[in-house]
Amino acid sequence: MEQAFRSKRVLAPDGLCAATVVVRDGRICDVCGWGDAPAGAILHDYGDLVLLPGLVDTHVHINEPGRTEWEGFATATQAAAAGGVTMLVDMPLNCVPEIINVEALAAKRKAAQGKTWVDWAAWGGVVRGNADSLPGLARAGVPGFKCFLIHSGIDGFAWVDEADLRLALKKLRGTGLPLLAHAELAGPVDEATKALSASDAGWRRYVKYLASRPGLAESDAIALLVRLADEFQTPIHIVHLSSAGAALKLLELARKRGTPVTAETCAHYLWFAAEDIPDGATEYKCAPPIREAKNRDALWRGLESGLIDMITTDHSPCPPAMKRKDEGRFDQAWGGIASLGLALPVVWTAMRRRGIGIESIAEWMAAAPARLAGLAGRKGALAAGADADFAVFDPDAAWTVTRDDLRFRHKLSPYLGAQLRGRVRETWLRGEQIFVQERFAGEPRGREWTRA
Ligand SMILES: [Zn+2]
Repeated sequence: MEQAFRSKRVLAPDGLCAATVVVRDGRICDVCGWGDAPAGAILHDYGDLVLLPGLVDTHVHINEPGRTEWEGFATATQAAAAGGVTMLVDMPLNCVPEIINVEALAAKRKAAQGKTWVDWAAWGGVVRGNADSLPGLARAGVPGFKCFLIHSGIDGFAWVDEADLRLALKKLRGTGLPLLAHAELAGPVDEATKALSASDAGWRRYVKYLASRPGLAESDAIALLVRLADEFQTPIHIVHLSSAGAALKLLELARKRGTPVTAETCAHYLWFAAEDIPDGATEYKCAPPIREAKNRDALWRGLESGLIDMITTDHSPCPPAMKRKDEGRFDQAWGGIASLGLALPVVWTAMRRRGIGIESIAEWMAAAPARLAGLAGRKGALAAGADADFAVFDPDAAWTVTRDDLRFRHKLSPYLGAQLRGRVRETWLRGEQIFVQERFAGEPRGREWTRA
């Protein structure tokens, strides 16, 4: 049985065009002219709504098993589906056990069974002392690994120094699997924090938190990572880049040399600005921190120039009590922003204001993250051979984020009240509708993708 998805605005790899996407057995078999739907195919005509490739989000913390009360597979993948995300890759920490060996990966897989509304994969973890576990995790199919260069907030996920990184990179060299790194060094953060906390006062102020995590911590970490990527010729990916200045300069030089390094930034760094964050508003706390408006402009330029490859959410929720809103102290609140499902309209609204065409969504939020996770050709593009994953998007719809729009577990997010443009009308996973008219359709039939 064939299906044909037709729109005046199909976001194909070479741009926006009137086209028909033909689907058989859950895969795209052809992208043909608007009027060329095969006779006998079931026709879905979307008028001039935008047909986007299903988005790929490679930075999500699901927390199940072990901390399912923070976030679980069912709620996280529903939030993804409602936001047009059809493939996500789960970070190896904040669940228990952390995914630092194959036994933990097996527990993760068991926990996910029957609960996922979209397709998913699991990053493995690199921590101090687990280098010998990396080949096993690679054989078990993780698409790559994640590490921290500073305390992760989770005691079971130990951060790594240069010596640990060398042990890990020796194991990863030649596998093609990327090492993703939280790029902040402890030294500059400790120093800045020490200079600030002569007194305990003032931690309700966002400027104090911002000053405690200087951009230098990011650029120093990136300098180290670029040096190692050069030496080991192994792909390293900088997650959630927040500081634009020196960091972008380093990335530019590395790219010119052909160093295998890539970078992402997150929707919240592109949307919020430090100047607008109220004191005590710990729902904005994340690390690295949201910086000033001027820095935000530079991140956008980094995306447009291609130095920053992609946009992820870093959806990292916790129970509301851990945000300690009653005290509002930024030093004591849990760091992490809950946002899964909102990234598309958030990024698109900002793009409209900046005069950036919708075509870039396909690269920044679908094709580039698919490449990072080894899914090129299969996910992240409306092209023959790829899975029939779609988001049907009304780019002009105006709306305001309310609690009902948050599909993840805890309805706490700095995006509440945000005025956005663009709304996901339908989401399709491998040729079947999973979200339509603000409701989920069918059963959770997401699959885990393992790297062969
Ligand atoms: Zn994260």
